[in-house]
Amino acid sequence: MLTYQMFIGGKWTSGKGTAVIEVSNPATNEIIATVPKATHQDIADAVDAADVAFKKWSKLTVFQRGEYLRKSSSIVLERAEEIAKLMTQEQGKPFKEALGEVKKGAEILRYYAEEGERVYGRIIPNAEINTESRVIYQPMGVAVSISPWNYPIELIAWKVAGALAAGCTSICKLPSETPLSPLEFIRCIQDSGVPNGVINALTGSGAEVGKIIMDNPKVKKVAFTGSTETGKIILANSVNTLKKVSLELGGSLPMIITKNADLDAAVAGATRRSFRNMGQICIAINRIYVDETVYEEFLRKFVMATEKLTIGNGLIEDVDLGPMCQQKGIEKTKSQIEDGLKKGAKLLTGGKKPDKFATSNGNYFEPSILADVTHDMLVMKEETFGPLVGVMSYKTLDEAISLANDTVYGLAAMVYSNNLSEVELLCKELHAGNVAINNPDAGVINAPYGGWKDSGFGHEHGTEGLFEYLYIKHIRVKYL
Ligand code: NAD
Repeated sequence: MLTYQMFIGGKWTSGKGTAVIEVSNPATNEIIATVPKATHQDIADAVDAADVAFKKWSKLTVFQRGEYLRKSSSIVLERAEEIAKLMTQEQGKPFKEALGEVKKGAEILRYYAEEGERVYGRIIPNAEINTESRVIYQPMGVAVSISPWNYPIELIAWKVAGALAAGCTSICKLPSETPLSPLEFIRCIQDSGVPNGVINALTGSGAEVGKIIMDNPKVKKVAFTGSTETGKIILANSVNTLKKVSLELGGSLPMIITKNADLDAAVAGATRRSFRNMGQICIAINRIYVDETVYEEFLRKFVMATEKLTIGNGLIEDVDLGPMCQQKGIEKTKSQIEDGLKKGAKLLTGGKKPDKFATSNGNYFEPSILADVTHDMLVMKEETFGPLVGVMSYKTLDEAISLANDTVYGLAAMVYSNNLSEVELLCKELHAGNVAINNPDAGVINAPYGGWKDSGFGHEHGTEGLFEYLYIKHIRVKYL
């Protein structure tokens, strides 16, 4: 079993306490490592170290900071395979998916190294003679990242890369289920030579570490990705110290397939985005609405494509899907299936542990499709965060739009149609921060990504993801 440490003020440390968190492999449910539980003092030490480091880091030029980020990116790429193996062992996603995520982490570091150089400011003319307004942007200070286990590195990279490029220093509160690959990612950043305290990593209970961080006035910004429930607690805890908070929260992604869609492309998109990472994606498809004239054909093809997906231990087999990260994710998926069946839905495929793993302790579950669902079923209301999708038909596009918008969430939506007027209407009418048309991916690193409604506020990715870490300063100058 491996023993991992936290990273505080440039030193690897087990911290001031003795309690640890166990990390297990979802393919076997064996414990593979422990990480320390940060104490109150460890958290204060990390904040102090980041605060001291901020004074120098923020004074570097963006080009100097960019050099560290580019070097970090190269180191991540050099170590990508070993980091990806760790991710598969703690999270469950197949090695090739984990490797893709680690490489994306490297890409994000490089992207923000460059985007940092494009923070320009403005000059605004004034009514008075010889007077002008200047707008400049300055880094806020200590920035904290809090993120979940489904994308252990990518979600941290969005936050850390934006923060460091902007001139902030960073503390990452790592996900308790998957802290190992992020610790190695953070080691890469440290090995680029950044001064001590610029990057720090804490492990421990989210509720405990989170509260202490939110109460510390030296922390100026918290970027959170996780459930809507936790996001609301973080927002409430930000009131006393008035921190800037950005919240990337839960979702319930609707996909609309019109009668003018390329059905094969829609099937490929639906299969990929419903079940990738076992549905443990904030922008996984939860609900599919299909025009009634192509409903049966879509279902037949969707079931065929889903049944071709291979499942296994992605560390030793080349498979499409691994085990789920946690057993409780399987329980939630099962409860939504039972609820749907009780209310009249049809289970077209899935719904159980694959026969191949009948005697395994791993968190395996088949990708599952519920058809003929209605909006009183849990699968259409609650975020599943598991390998389950509900499908129903619609008669008119207005009906599809109103069903798609019938949710508290507004993270992303997906549309398949080759009719320009339909696409235009759906782009405008869907209540979501991200809409993907004829493709299954609503997020790219150089365009803003954020939610509406209960999916949160603030942005990551793109220029917007950098400005989250910058104060705006207006300077009014009169030339005498
Ligand atoms: P979670 O909210 O339980 O935990 C997320 C993180 O918050 C973890 O690191 C956890 O330790 C920490 N945490 C828990 N309680 C805390 C508190 N009181 N104060 C501060 N931190 C606390 O989320 P989860 O169930 O682990 O992750 C799944 C959720 O994340 C889903 O709802 C999913 O949609 C969402 N998610 C959203 C996005 C997005 O970009 N919008 C991306 C990925 C996941």
